Amino acid sequence: MTSRREVPRSRAVMWWLAGTSVLRHLERLGWNPVRHPDRASGRMGEMSEIDGMGTERATCVLARNPSAMTLQGTNTWIIGEPGAEEVVVVDPGPKDGKHLHRVVDTVASQGRRVGLVLLTHGHPDHSAGATKFAGLAGERVKVRAFDPEGKLSDYMGSLDRLRAFSAKVGAATILPGHGPKLDDPLAALDYYIDHRRERLAQVEAAVAAGARTAREVVERVYIDVDKSLWPAAEWSVQSQLDYLRSRA
Ligand SMILES: [Zn+2]
Repeated sequence: MTSRREVPRSRAVMWWLAGTSVLRHLERLGWNPVRHPDRASGRMGEMSEIDGMGTERATCVLARNPSAMTLQGTNTWIIGEPGAEEVVVVDPGPKDGKHLHRVVDTVASQGRRVGLVLLTHGHPDHSAGATKFAGLAGERVKVRAFDPEGKLSDYMGSLDRLRAFSAKVGAATILPGHGPKLDDPLAALDYYIDHRRERLAQVEAAVAAGARTAREVVERVYIDVDKSLWPAAEWSVQSQLDYLRSRA
């Protein structure tokens, strides 16, 4: 397939994006609430600076679906080698005709065409528009999907793989599924990894102190998190309890 030749290392890019996009979601679900190296300044990024951001090989088209879970909206990524005729579109986004047309128009304005559509995971804000998008982009366009399970061990495995990959290739940027790009990948990943270890230690301590249910753990550990996120945090804690028990 031509896109394979024109977009080298696409497999690595796919893993990369699968990991980072899921990572952002899990973060919103309470894996890594509140604190973030990019947010030390309190800046979360404006929609206007996310839409159109990118690198030599990547352009972001921001879907207009902002929410507590999607931050400023879902990032649709157009990825291609400089000079290549074909691009890969990662996560076409929600089923929003205006957004999907904007992605098609952006690719066309670059004088290129879509060779492949990749879905990092099945959440509708990333994937619901995929079939419609493929139809708009050309009848030969294929869609391929990943389906990470969302278990904590998978998440931690993704972080470790991303960390190793970033170090190996000297990665300059993480292109996330939500929010601004991260220009210090190792620092960001170390932060997530350390934070995960901290949270696990806190959950272990809460259990040792007598917390018996996920809810009881949340009440002790997630005091610093807005209560509207507690149901999600409870789900997160349940995964952590499962993970800890599986290792006991
Ligand atoms: Zn999302």
